[in-house]
Amino acid sequence: MTSTAIDPRLLDRLAEVAVRVGLNLQPGQELVLTAPVEALPLVRLVAAAAYRAGAGLVTPVFSDSELTLARYHNAPDESFDRAAGWMFEGMAKAYEAGAARMAIVGDDPMLLAAEDQERVSRAGKATSVAYRPALEKIANFDINWSIISYPGAAWAGRMFPDLAPEAAVAKLAEAIFAASRVTGDDPVAAWEAHNAALRTRTRWLNDRRFSALKYSGPGADLTVGLADGHEWHGGASEAKNGVVCNPNIPTEEVFTTPHAARVEGRVRATKPLSHQGSLIEDIEVRFEGGRITEARASRGEAVLLKLLETDEGARRLGEVALVPHSSPISASGLLFYNTLYDENASCHIALGQCYSKCFLGGASLSTEEIAARGGNASMIHVDWMIGGPDTDIDGITADGATVPVFRKGEWVE
Ligand code: ZN
Ligand code: ZN
Repeated sequence: MTSTAIDPRLLDRLAEVAVRVGLNLQPGQELVLTAPVEALPLVRLVAAAAYRAGAGLVTPVFSDSELTLARYHNAPDESFDRAAGWMFEGMAKAYEAGAARMAIVGDDPMLLAAEDQERVSRAGKATSVAYRPALEKIANFDINWSIISYPGAAWAGRMFPDLAPEAAVAKLAEAIFAASRVTGDDPVAAWEAHNAALRTRTRWLNDRRFSALKYSGPGADLTVGLADGHEWHGGASEAKNGVVCNPNIPTEEVFTTPHAARVEGRVRATKPLSHQGSLIEDIEVRFEGGRITEARASRGEAVLLKLLETDEGARRLGEVALVPHSSPISASGLLFYNTLYDENASCHIALGQCYSKCFLGGASLSTEEIAARGGNASMIHVDWMIGGPDTDIDGITADGATVPVFRKGEWVE
């Protein structure tokens, strides 16, 4: 794609924000960066910004959609149980030695939708297993890391199928720049203000120590018990290496851990869920004792039911997140087919694994201690949207009092 569709000045600002705010890269720190080859213009700008910030070394690792498809169309069957374990072990070593990590996403979210799903799932599983040593360092927040995105042509084509390719990329680029808060004169200051606003919300929620949140609205009559000793997070946070970073750009959510056994009632999704190349629409579930006992969808129901059967924890919640309906991503009215964006458009819940950092003293809790406090465990973590312009949320305190938190999709105070 020619650069005329993507404003080079804003792309450079995105690179600067990614390095200074997303990673807060430290002088002398190394950076491991993964990206699709299509994002090369952004990778070059990120590398330049990283070296200006004093990076010791920037090492990019590229992927390519055509190359991925070449495997599905040509490789022997046994290929789909393999993964580049040697590379992930190398990444894990780099993180142990203090390297930061950046991921740039921008590929077609439906790339593998037409391929043999059994092979897709085998290849995904092989990668998960091989990736574990490196992923653990990220999941445990040992190092500063961040994800940003690049307006890839195939992704843009999914979002704007009626536009010419060039125009679609221009539209997606605009949406990415706006959501990533790089369109103003001083994006770094804009991010400081945004992080401060999110911090005000998490402090307020952490001071209240609600035992549950009660949702009411169209299709929602849901009480989500919060885990014992839960802690709200959002925006910038401190990795175990002491560096304060913004792992997701964009980000609009404040989130914490629900209690895996204390969710009751029913709720309906307010947006479609794009999951591994499939679209699941109008999800409706009922929870009893924290467990989903009924689930349906108007489209993609088989995919949903299969997802719920992954393991016992897949039927329970691992995250609850609050996002006002007026968030810039929601205001854009776009479906991005990408969780990094779509979850930041709306209040959401996630099926599956909880975040250990969303507990008081979470960094030092064992898996058993997290489970004892109500933290869910699963191989999956899938976010889906339950918020809208008519969502009301009340906080329930330990002594049963009710405090308004959201009215008509917005923060009460
Ligand atoms: Zn979330
Ligand atoms: Zn999530």
